[in-house]
Amino acid sequence: MTSRTTLVLALALAAAGPAHAALRVVTTTGEYGAIATVIGGDKVTVTVLAKSTEDPHFVDAKPSHIVTLNRADALIEGGADLEVGWLPPLLEGARNPKLAAGGPGHIRASEGIQLIDVPAALDRSQGDVHAAGNPHFMMDPSDARVVAAHIADAFCALDAPSCAVYKSNLAAFQSRLDAKIADWQAVLAPFKGTPIVTYHPTWKYFAKRFGLVSDLYLEPKPGIPPSPPHLAEVIQKMTADKIRVILVEPFQSRKTAESVADRTGATVVEVCQFPGGLPGTANDYVALMDADVKAIVAGLQAKK
Ligand SMILES: [Zn+2]
Repeated sequence: MTSRTTLVLALALAAAGPAHAALRVVTTTGEYGAIATVIGGDKVTVTVLAKSTEDPHFVDAKPSHIVTLNRADALIEGGADLEVGWLPPLLEGARNPKLAAGGPGHIRASEGIQLIDVPAALDRSQGDVHAAGNPHFMMDPSDARVVAAHIADAFCALDAPSCAVYKSNLAAFQSRLDAKIADWQAVLAPFKGTPIVTYHPTWKYFAKRFGLVSDLYLEPKPGIPPSPPHLAEVIQKMTADKIRVILVEPFQSRKTAESVADRTGATVVEVCQFPGGLPGTANDYVALMDADVKAIVAGLQAKK
């Protein structure tokens, strides 16, 4: 469907005039979209801007994103500079006062989250995309629990008549998540203290939650592509510390990860931050984390 037909269809639906219009929610990335869908149920429609296989720091901005933002009642973004490279111009183009910074329609997931690796001084001079701290907190499911509550509160503020529905959907989501967190802790417990290598520092919150050690990356700095001297250093450390797995995401170079794995005997494990990026995880945060945990456990168990 072209964006023009989508627009025509949307206008036709708007003209039909539903008794209680659903909140139009836009999210930058898919894990927020999945959680907003669960909390909002049939009271919201959710559009995700980034593809599940796209780098969240460098999303391909499209004119259709401006149209989507222009018509939205609420925007959920990660914040902590995750989207700083692409969202501000889209918001400017959308000219939607409902999404103004600080307003009830602009929801920053990072509010209320304890960020790690916050630098003492803001400095992007070397291209580090984590200048405000590490924005990948959603890979800790306990942080996702906090974000879900934040989203439910925001939906209540925007649509008070449906607040009881949002709160009840939140409770159901949190109890499903709590049961899975206990399962994930159990399957990862035998690997407590095990170091892992990742392409980018995406899995630091995950590692912290589940007792793994994540402080070695194929990137020399967040957002800076791997260089031969840096990779030589990584290979040396992996050999010395007997590191067995390298995590790689859909938009990262699997070839680079494979070449390091060939030199160290490690296993390359495919993981993803976004629902739909791994098979069977479309629009389901819990299923995504389940698939990630299974893949990481299989990688840690692999004998080479
Ligand atoms: Zn990052």
